[in-house]
Amino acid sequence: MLTGVRIVVLGGDARQLEVIRKCAELDATVSVVGFDQLEQVIPGIEHCELEDDVFASADVLVLPVVGCDDQGKVSSSFSNAAIVLKKEHMAALPEHCTVFTGMAKPFLRELCQENGLRLVEVLDRDDIALCNSIPTAEGAIAIAIKETDITIHGSECIVLGIGRTGFTLAKTLQGLGANVRVGIRRNEDAVRATIMGWKPFMTTDLAAQTGEVDLLFNTIPTMIITAQILSRMPQKAVIIDLASAPGGCDFRYADKRGIKALLAPGLPGIVAPKTAGGIIADALIRLLLEEQNAREVKS
Ligand code: NAP
Repeated sequence: MLTGVRIVVLGGDARQLEVIRKCAELDATVSVVGFDQLEQVIPGIEHCELEDDVFASADVLVLPVVGCDDQGKVSSSFSNAAIVLKKEHMAALPEHCTVFTGMAKPFLRELCQENGLRLVEVLDRDDIALCNSIPTAEGAIAIAIKETDITIHGSECIVLGIGRTGFTLAKTLQGLGANVRVGIRRNEDAVRATIMGWKPFMTTDLAAQTGEVDLLFNTIPTMIITAQILSRMPQKAVIIDLASAPGGCDFRYADKRGIKALLAPGLPGIVAPKTAGGIIADALIRLLLEEQNAREVKS
């Protein structure tokens, strides 16, 4: 139980509702800022204004998955009011307060450092990234279905990178009956791919692989689908780039060649906010319970 733990949730999207709901269910004291247009009633939570005293007694400050921007602006899907996280808000947080987000920008990192606050960036963690790979793969496949006039079954698919996202995606495509090739750069990944029943190739040989491709999915966060690669690709091919912005595709040249290429960020929050929110909520709750246990062992 989280009895006696005060959690302040500042802005966010539908994913944050799961965090709020699950923490409240475990008896945490949950104060929310930036949810004034939320239509559903979540029992046991308190709606607050963005004022210093909200911060003063917080044990945890939960920011949206994308944190705040470099001016401190926090987005909220449930408010039109401007929410700006200021230096004085962070200075008002107690020393023991943990700041919890998906991924922090330098502004937030610096504010936490200046105030000696623990910052937890949950998307960094392997367990979370692996859980998130499932809604990401499903979201990528939803886009593929929408953007093509063929079935995934029997299609020629290439997945670039078989890290956390690429592996789950390749497996899901295979499950739907696609012919899956994967672009890798390490020999051990070639073995892993072969065991899985995918055809591996080195990404340095990508140009030779794209002649017959229906769907090209990228998870490599560097420029990999260059103009040179695109110049040899069939126009019917669809590229779905999952790597974080700016992605790994020369979108300008793809457009010039008439190849459909889409950058598809933030899929878990778009296609499965409840699942994605649950993943984040579980990570936060695990962290708080671990801290509680550690305190109990000490005392
Ligand atoms: P990951 O586990 O680190 O996987 C990245 C893969 O890219 C690994 O297989 C890595 O190979 C490979 N790679 C990196 N640089 C390479 C290079 N220069 N040449 C060849 N291969 C290279 O990361 P992830 O969690 O799968 O995430 C991948 C990307 O997707 C990230 O940009 C992440 O932010 C993004 N993402 C997007 C969404 C979305 O909704 N669109 C959701 C989740 C993640 P090695 O193992 O050899 O290093």
